[in-house]
Amino acid sequence: MSASQIPPATAVPGDDTPTLLIKIFGKDRPGITAGLFDTLAAYSLDVVDIEQVVTRGRITLCALVTAPPPTGRHGSAEGELRATVHSWAESLHLQAEIISGRGDNRPRGTGRSIVTVLGHPLTAESTAAIAAAITGTGGNIDRIFRLAKYPVTAVEFAVSGAETSPLRTALATQAALLGVDIAVVAAGLHRRAQRLVVMDVDSTLIQDEVIELFAAHAGCEDQVAEVTAAAMRGELDFEQSLHARVELLAGLDESVVDKVRSEVRLTPGARTLIRTLKRLGYQVGVVSGGFTQVTDDLQERLGLDFASANTLEVVDGKLTGRVTGEIVDRAGKARLLRRFAAEAGVPLAQTVAIGDGANDLDMLNAAGLGVAFNAKPVVREAAHTAVNVPFLDTVLYLLGITREEVEAADTQADEG
Ligand SMILES: [Mg+2]
Repeated sequence: MSASQIPPATAVPGDDTPTLLIKIFGKDRPGITAGLFDTLAAYSLDVVDIEQVVTRGRITLCALVTAPPPTGRHGSAEGELRATVHSWAESLHLQAEIISGRGDNRPRGTGRSIVTVLGHPLTAESTAAIAAAITGTGGNIDRIFRLAKYPVTAVEFAVSGAETSPLRTALATQAALLGVDIAVVAAGLHRRAQRLVVMDVDSTLIQDEVIELFAAHAGCEDQVAEVTAAAMRGELDFEQSLHARVELLAGLDESVVDKVRSEVRLTPGARTLIRTLKRLGYQVGVVSGGFTQVTDDLQERLGLDFASANTLEVVDGKLTGRVTGEIVDRAGKARLLRRFAAEAGVPLAQTVAIGDGANDLDMLNAAGLGVAFNAKPVVREAAHTAVNVPFLDTVLYLLGITREEVEAADTQADEG
């Protein structure tokens, strides 16, 4: 059959084709969807669209179908169909509504975005403000879907008709006012193609700042804190502050490294995040302005594909107060993200970076999606998106992964 002989698809009605929107609502039980379409099958209709959700045991089933021909054997086929559907619904104690119209759904506007909201809790007031902000930018909410109820309530809005960038600006303002996290990303295939996640370590993957753990053993916490404060005031750059702080560790016994490793506390959700990403085929790496003495251990324990950090020099079993090798600073982190992406064979646009500090900013901006994790305000404002709940696994929801998928993967792994 040549292309010109292929009959047109009848399920794509023209704008003038009469169609019926059939809506069924009530207590869910097995067989409702099959029952409705069995009833409709007698009229040789084409299905144009179907949507179904079940919320707290109540089903809402919407079917858009082509209308039957105007006349049937016993008069109006549409009238007969309406009566049949209503009597089927009544027999199951369901409500049915049938609305006549023409054509398919209105085409969705161009400019599609995914808005992910993380609420802890998610209040009605926040939801109203978010929906109003979306409408305010000219966006239409096409679909709303709950991704997770644990450890936060995560809800995804599919929005069309608004550009991603103004939508992100409008919702960032709302997020700050409402105390919820809102991420806005452009919808599209690239969202499903992300394949590399690179994380900062101190105060991101782990709850601690490793230099402070070393300083506690050296009895110089106060001096280290002083240098950190000077760096935050902009009196020292990262490299100067790194050298100044490491110098204070000179003479410390190498055995402290093991003690520090055992003191490191992973951020809640860190294991779930990494385990889930690995199962989905992502590569995962860390970059740290801290030390390989700790990141190498984390790499092994967590099965990370990449890890890079500064190295504390050890001579004759003592820390010398110097670092060796390439310095990992703000520019270094972005450079390492590019290097890991090249090694993983992943375009930069398909990478995700997560960090909390000013020295993560270049890396967050270079990645396809930069996530500021419980970050300083300056980082939060500059990143594509911010997460302010203390659970690292919530980043999965920004990637569109549901809690059910996370738990199903865990169950399979336990059984396998
Ligand atoms: Mg950090």
